[in-house]
Amino acid sequence: MTAITTHILGYPRIGAKRELKFALEAYWQGNIEQIELVQRAEQVELANWQAQVDAGISLLTVGDFVYYDHILTHATRLGVFPDRFATGQRLNQLDRQFYLARGRSQGCPDVAALEMTKWFDTNYHYLVPELRSNQSFNPDFSDLLAQVERAKAFNKPIKVVVTGLLSFLYLSRIVDTHTASPHSSHDHCTHTQQHQPCTDTLDLVDQLLPAYIILFDQLAAAGVYAVQVDEPILALDLSHAWKNAFERVYNRLQRRDALKLIVSSYFGTLGDNLNLAVHLPVAGLHIDLTREQPHERFWLSVIDALPAHKLLSLGVINGRSVWATDFAATQAIIQTATQRLGERLWLSTGCSLLHVPVDLDSEQLPTHVDGRLAFAKQKLQELSRLAQGSHHFSAATPSRPYPTFHLTAQQRAESFEHRYQLQQAKLNLPLFPTTTIGSFPQTAEIRAARALWRQGELSDYAYQHAMQAEIKHAIRIQESLGLDVLVHGEAERTDMVEYFAGLLDGFWLSDFGWVQSYGSRCVRPPIIVHDIQRRQAMTVEWIGYANSLTDKIVKGMLTGPVTILNWSFPPAHRSRREVALQLAEAIRLEVADLQQAGVAIIQIDEAAFREGLPLRQADQAEYWDWAVSAFKHSASSALPSTQIHTHMCYSEFTDCLPQIKAMDADVITIETSRSGLQLLDVFHQQGYPNAIGPGVYDIHSPRTPNAKSMRVVIDGALQSIPADRLWINPDCGLKTRNWDETTAALTELVKTAQQLRTTWLEATV
Ligand code: GLN
Ligand code: ZN
Repeated sequence: MTAITTHILGYPRIGAKRELKFALEAYWQGNIEQIELVQRAEQVELANWQAQVDAGISLLTVGDFVYYDHILTHATRLGVFPDRFATGQRLNQLDRQFYLARGRSQGCPDVAALEMTKWFDTNYHYLVPELRSNQSFNPDFSDLLAQVERAKAFNKPIKVVVTGLLSFLYLSRIVDTHTASPHSSHDHCTHTQQHQPCTDTLDLVDQLLPAYIILFDQLAAAGVYAVQVDEPILALDLSHAWKNAFERVYNRLQRRDALKLIVSSYFGTLGDNLNLAVHLPVAGLHIDLTREQPHERFWLSVIDALPAHKLLSLGVINGRSVWATDFAATQAIIQTATQRLGERLWLSTGCSLLHVPVDLDSEQLPTHVDGRLAFAKQKLQELSRLAQGSHHFSAATPSRPYPTFHLTAQQRAESFEHRYQLQQAKLNLPLFPTTTIGSFPQTAEIRAARALWRQGELSDYAYQHAMQAEIKHAIRIQESLGLDVLVHGEAERTDMVEYFAGLLDGFWLSDFGWVQSYGSRCVRPPIIVHDIQRRQAMTVEWIGYANSLTDKIVKGMLTGPVTILNWSFPPAHRSRREVALQLAEAIRLEVADLQQAGVAIIQIDEAAFREGLPLRQADQAEYWDWAVSAFKHSASSALPSTQIHTHMCYSEFTDCLPQIKAMDADVITIETSRSGLQLLDVFHQQGYPNAIGPGVYDIHSPRTPNAKSMRVVIDGALQSIPADRLWINPDCGLKTRNWDETTAALTELVKTAQQLRTTWLEATV
């Protein structure tokens, strides 16, 4: 039997040891020249190709390697360059991209960078291209063609990755300088996954088509074998206008030569885009098999519907999971597919491997996960072996059976009204209480102490001492600022999820498991390898210490179950619902311990509450159901007189306020300063029954907020929120700010609250 053609949708570009990150940052700091950046980047590109060749992958994937973001690179190649960056016209391609992404470049004025937003339901962020309604495109694909030339050294058939025309437009937005300021992106129609976009970018199809024709002609002339035309929006619910555009666009892009266009969908099944997708006039289709329930077998309906001359690339390796592939199940699929398709079958990863870490080989694996994990490089080997129909592949060691937990979701019994009354009597806070979101500046000293401690050069005792000194400092400052509800400042946490993952049973923290988040930024998501259990209290000592220093109320600070799950790699054999409930149980126990220790207010952060929302509407109710009940379970050990806060940032509440209400936190603090009052409008229209702290200033800006802008938010909130349920706070944690900025801003915040109380009391006398 001849081996099946294999390829991947993309490989991580950051490098196994984050080589690209370090090269980029050195370049931006002016420590290396561009030529060195390019050399170092091309080494990563070369290593990526070598890994594919070594694993025996049939086609070499080219064009997935970019310096910052693939949508940004594509936009730059198309000549998209918003007016405010005009001084950057003279920069070369690479520096132009950095200018767009960062808003700064040597010799150019600082301007607002392009907006960043989440790439479908992943934790990767892409830059949103800004197009004018009369946008013209001046394509220049020379850097892509140069990549193709470099790849030829491997003597393999070359497949080039290109963002599809329609997905590109869907992910872009129109910004006309005379109608909307690019700074106030939220006032404008944005195309995030949450919205059915306005069709205005769709109007640019005709202007953009010639650029794609040029691109494909040039790739054909360069001897490229196939083009992977990424159209991930095929996994979304699309309006008629977008659906209709597919046929029209691909008719125009149809090739008469040998260049194979493979339209690629991923991150989900095709849903009711299936018929549309199989009939596009292209050489083949790629589908992602890894995001559906095994019994659904949507790939079979694709095979049934596929015209007889077309290729089908089956994405059988999960590009979103760190777990080894289930060989038996996958081989069964391949067998059926081979019988039906013969040589028209290609095998691939479901999506790009961008979303998993690079290489497992440098990790110290705990014995219970050894043999069960696969990062990008290991996935290449899996793919190759699957294609060869190898039966002696050492199947992944079956996981140890999990101890079975029988958790039932619980919730607080008393009504909010009743609870809030008890809490107000107990807490005795002024009207419009002031507080912060949790973290205070993570200073260089804090980071240095932690680094030394991790290297074993600082004893546990000395580290604890150093962190206590930070807590004391934070408490004293908050007292002198006159804040009402204090926090301990989170000095001991590098990251709000990693901190808890490091203390809970069931997580494994890798050493090099970095995944690109955006640009040079990487995250190292904890990996859930087992059932979650709390070994001991995780925060009581720190919060208790802070509490002992002051007569004021100190708020306990926890990360919620849904956020921990959404920012981790989930386990192989458990549903998200089950894992969320296990995490909720751990947090529930922590809430009980804090309460026992005399903590009267406990905040359960759900910064990523909305992030795990499925792409298709039909799947969303199920998500909300378990997410809301997990949160409620985590708070269920709180007595009615214990106040539960939650915090969310940069969430879109337009379509999920009923779920936010259902969480039933006593107080919710939210981001409102950047999304303007639009967010408050939603609360106004749909009502919000519990207490709320709209963020009165944007912590991302180093500038000191003024009282006037804070009052705008507060007055807006007072339109729909009764005064005795309104809290005053910044819009997020302060860890990225320095102490000077922090105290200056909080001084203004406290002053604003005090003035407000006076005017309010005068008005009501
Ligand atoms: N309590 C966290 C902090 O203040 C919340 C962070 C977040 O919302 N992303 O840092
Ligand atoms: Zn936040």
